[in-house]
Amino acid sequence: MDNKKMLGHMIGANYHTHTPRSFHASGTDREYIEAAIRFGYHTIGFADHSPYIFTNGYESFDRILVEATQEYAETFAALKEEYKNDIRILIGYEMEYYPEFFEETLKHICKFPVDYLILGQHFIENEYTGKCCYDYTEDEAVLKQFIDELIAGIQTGVYTYVAHPNILNYGGDMGIYETHVRRLCAEAKKHNVSFEADIRYIDDFEGEHRDIRSHHFYKVAAEFGIPVVFGCDAHNPAALNDVALYENALRLMDYVGAKVINDPILRDPHLYFQK
Ligand SMILES: [Zn+2]
Ligand SMILES: [Zn+2]
Repeated sequence: MDNKKMLGHMIGANYHTHTPRSFHASGTDREYIEAAIRFGYHTIGFADHSPYIFTNGYESFDRILVEATQEYAETFAALKEEYKNDIRILIGYEMEYYPEFFEETLKHICKFPVDYLILGQHFIENEYTGKCCYDYTEDEAVLKQFIDELIAGIQTGVYTYVAHPNILNYGGDMGIYETHVRRLCAEAKKHNVSFEADIRYIDDFEGEHRDIRSHHFYKVAAEFGIPVVFGCDAHNPAALNDVALYENALRLMDYVGAKVINDPILRDPHLYFQK
């Protein structure tokens, strides 16, 4: 394989890797790790969808089951040791900020080995009373709530970066969009939190599917000097080497003048309880 075309050599680290424990990814743990080694990564971070303790009995099947947390964490702790001469493995979670259930869930996660969390807000409020971020909206109130929740998440101090911060499918006025994105950037800057450039969530740089929203988002982020970290959001091992998606995202980052890094400050989630 041509080294130049291997994504690990280009981005070094990926902090956004899923596993089948959240019921919508494929590939074994070792397949992901060995693919990452083959593709030239020095660091592979597993950030599967975090368990969430919903106290009303609601159960989600897009995430690690609460009772599977220990197996997830301990399996990767053992693999981290086993592969330590080949690659740096990190144990993380992609975790929404659902204020009502956040603290109890974090307590549970912190009972087992964990290196970092990324903030991936797929729903506003939560996934049974709230709105799904994939649903198209032109409503500023929805945009405002989404940004407010990301800000509150950042303020917990536990998140290493905001995953796909451009996820909300907002298609309204871009001036209004930028106003709210500025609020988010100001808070991210204050807390030294970076943003992910999730290569799966950035549509075409130009042409029919030109991703106007992401242009606006990352332009404002660059103005604020918020560091950007590429992420594969891998749901299968081959996704760790999707060079075409990366090159598309890179074009946008170059165009807006984003400050790209691959070593964000990893925040220890345990610190939340030591405040
Ligand atoms: Zn996500
Ligand atoms: Zn993800």
